[in-house]
Amino acid sequence: MHHFELKDGVLHAEGVSLEALAAEVGTPTYVYSAATLRRHYQVMRAACDAHRSALGEALIAFAVKANSNLSVLATLAREGCGADTVSEGEIRRALKAGIPASRIIFSGVGKTDAELAFAIEQGVRQINVESSAELDRLIVVARSKAASPAIAIRVNPRIGAGGHAKITTGGAGDKFGVPVEEALDLYARASASDHVTPVGLACHIGSQITDLAPLEGAFRVLRQMTEQLRAQGHSVTRLDLGGGLGVPYYGDAETVAPADYVAMAARVLEGLDVEAAFEPGRLMAANAGVLLSRVIQVNERTDGRRFLVLDAAMNDLMRPALYDAFHDVKPVRPREGAALAHDIVGPVCETGDTFARDRALAPLQAGDLVVFMSAGAYGAVMSGEYNTRPLAAEVLVDGERHAVIRPRPTYDEMFAREPMADWL
Ligand SMILES: *Cc1c(COP(=O)(O)O)cnc(C)c1O
Repeated sequence: MHHFELKDGVLHAEGVSLEALAAEVGTPTYVYSAATLRRHYQVMRAACDAHRSALGEALIAFAVKANSNLSVLATLAREGCGADTVSEGEIRRALKAGIPASRIIFSGVGKTDAELAFAIEQGVRQINVESSAELDRLIVVARSKAASPAIAIRVNPRIGAGGHAKITTGGAGDKFGVPVEEALDLYARASASDHVTPVGLACHIGSQITDLAPLEGAFRVLRQMTEQLRAQGHSVTRLDLGGGLGVPYYGDAETVAPADYVAMAARVLEGLDVEAAFEPGRLMAANAGVLLSRVIQVNERTDGRRFLVLDAAMNDLMRPALYDAFHDVKPVRPREGAALAHDIVGPVCETGDTFARDRALAPLQAGDLVVFMSAGAYGAVMSGEYNTRPLAAEVLVDGERHAVIRPRPTYDEMFAREPMADWL
């Protein structure tokens, strides 16, 4: 569900014409729909509230790494959303956007001592501990601050899932979390320390998951472990179920409805009396954003291939190069004409800078605008300035309003970040 639709023959983000936006802000530009972000949060909230008896006052903690723009975070903060963070920088962003520390979870496989200290000082809700070595370091850091932060142990349930090997995190060989037996040991060790307060377990098995079965398997592991830990006399009050639910990148793609996902979690946790946390990233942001780009030219080769050369490239949207990801490409002002196969590419000097092959589109011309759909998650956050291409701008639309929420840097601003060595 999203708010990018044709009005009078021109694609709009809510009430704002993308043609007008491109004229004002230039391209490539990420455009987000506030109404879509809010709606995605509210669908999850309503589903959680419908299962309060099984999930408690469930926390919905947006995975900040999916889209960390301050205005995006602030839009969600105003709805009551929390944050799942994986660095000090993300904690700082969440706080700056108005998400209270009491709704911030700190995850990640390699948190530095300085980051752990910062999280303790801020009083985040929970630190998810991913290894024995990290527990040792956290205890030392917490002792130095005379603190005892709430922690969850991240379990690797040996159930990996996800849309691509590079975004599968719960497999036995993946770097995340600890195996079940070790997690039980860590929990007991943490319980014996005065400087951490174990409150629960966490898992996150992958991303772009389009089938409930692996998620259900992982949640069952958490349930079983909770019962085991309690039988040993430990208190377990929270289960962090991670994120990972997929979104439909293809028009007719099979995905799981958020309400069905939450209902499954409630079924698995029924009667356990825990407070659940969900950490959706992609689910909240992907369909709330598009990448707006202009056609530089159409290269029609004598061998029959037709290349649509855009002013967006792999540095702006890495997902196709990194994960072979599919993004639907739509013209902003559709033209008449029979569809032809296009290869859609950017100007960067790498063949990896190919967004799509043999995509059927009515013929486009130089100067036409297109959008990459479902680009709101893992889009702008991964962008860079390879080939000295200025970072793409970001715009937030809310009804008839819009604001540039990350301006495109000028070349002078880019070069000012690189002070010349004083001997040159
Ligand atoms: C990346 C991540 C998420 C979010 O994953 P999505 O697939 O975007 O929902 C949630 N939790 C943790 C720990 C993560 O690393």
